[in-house]
Amino acid sequence: MKPFIDPEEIWGFINNAKPSKERVRGIISKSLDKQRLTMEETAVLVQASDPGLVEEIKEGAKILKEKVYGQRIVLFAPLYIGNLCINKCAYCGFKSTNKAIRRITLTNEDLVAQVKALEDAGQKRLILVYGEHPTYDARFIAETVRIVYSVHSGPGEIRRVNINAAPMDIDGFRIIKDSKIGTYQVFQETYHEETYAKVHLGGIKRNYEWRLTALDRAQEAGIDDVGIGALFGLYDWRFEVLGLVRHTNHFEAVYNVGPHTISFPRIQYASQLNIDKSHIVSDAEFTRLVAILRLAVPYTGLILTAREPASIRDEILQFGVSQIDGGTNIEMGGYAKQEQAGAQDIDMEQFQINDNRSLNEIMEELIQHDYIPSFCTSCYRRGRTGEHFMEFSVPGFIKKFCQPNALLTLAEYLEDYAPEATRVMGYNLIQKKLAEMDEDSFKNSLTEKLDLVKEGKRDLYF
Ligand code: SAM
Ligand code: SF4
Repeated sequence: MKPFIDPEEIWGFINNAKPSKERVRGIISKSLDKQRLTMEETAVLVQASDPGLVEEIKEGAKILKEKVYGQRIVLFAPLYIGNLCINKCAYCGFKSTNKAIRRITLTNEDLVAQVKALEDAGQKRLILVYGEHPTYDARFIAETVRIVYSVHSGPGEIRRVNINAAPMDIDGFRIIKDSKIGTYQVFQETYHEETYAKVHLGGIKRNYEWRLTALDRAQEAGIDDVGIGALFGLYDWRFEVLGLVRHTNHFEAVYNVGPHTISFPRIQYASQLNIDKSHIVSDAEFTRLVAILRLAVPYTGLILTAREPASIRDEILQFGVSQIDGGTNIEMGGYAKQEQAGAQDIDMEQFQINDNRSLNEIMEELIQHDYIPSFCTSCYRRGRTGEHFMEFSVPGFIKKFCQPNALLTLAEYLEDYAPEATRVMGYNLIQKKLAEMDEDSFKNSLTEKLDLVKEGKRDLYF
């Protein structure tokens, strides 16, 4: 395959960009017209550093969110299955050279206990995370996915299992596909090959191209629901934003469908972190780059994680992030521990997280800000793939499917897991959203379904 990332091309776009007021405004309005941006246009936005223009870009992202996506935020939790790793990623606590880390792979019993604890908190969507190691081959991963789907604690069940694991070959991806995964995520970390070589010091992950083409192999194996990402802080953030846009273009050109999601983890403190600090991304740059990504790829899901503190999360949510994690605990086996999550032991975990609020606290916070927390998995289970694209492009899709399904999953949570105060708050939100809906048969059928949830029926969706 011809390499689709050309650093000279990317730097050419950045260096030649002329971010005049008129040009920046023209580009923002193109995005508000629901058209994706070219690399050249994205380069203009990353070069617009005038504070007034940066504000306009952020405002643009907020308007796009309000115009297109409404108020739902999908919640998920990460679950670390094993931290054995043969690679030497300079930024990661799990690197093979880190002898301070206790290496653990969950046994099947441990895994069941973790999933039960997650279900008991109200989670419905997980992302399973693995180091890169021969132990974690495709069969092992597929088996862990099957176990997760099989666990039921009371009314709890996990309805969607996503994966963040090392690249596979095509046969490996086929095996994983058969276990009915949701999204397969592989982050390129940095699209800049020279930097990539500097931070990946050993193991299979040293091979830039094997990683860059991972999701093409996934596509060939029939996995068309994929997530890309860059680890911000390794190289110039402007280059990485264009790298993500180029990767998206590549998917659209070759497979006719872009990635389902884009992640933008930012480097956090980790045990034996050993990187050149010159590209660390400030809060101001970070919020700006997320707004730019929203405008550049207006129909791709954006995932924000607990790596970021609550204050940053709150700002970025306004730019149309579609998914966040809640109640995150990245300690191996951490969810099933009885005691309250205390301070992180950095020698036990991949990196420092900055938002350790419980799922219920996050739910309350979202509800207070008029967001609808959602555990919806209906598109995936009804075989409607590319739902984010449909939300964006099919008129009425959000009103007809996403919002009602979000309310139904919220009602389930309120019935099964919420303390009384959250329950009251949540039902007030549901009433408010119902009151905002037109009086029609659709509203009636949603009201009927909400009553059924109160009577104990579960997993109802449109
Ligand atoms: N081991 C697999 C891999 O490398 O693809 C699975 C994913 S790894 C456990 C999850 C992601 O965490 C990495 O892709 C990387 O982007 C991110 N990560 C690693 N170290 C980090 C750090 N210090 N701060 C923030 N994110 C980090
Ligand atoms: Fe291993 Fe992934 Fe960490 Fe690299 S980022 S050391 S591959 S767990």
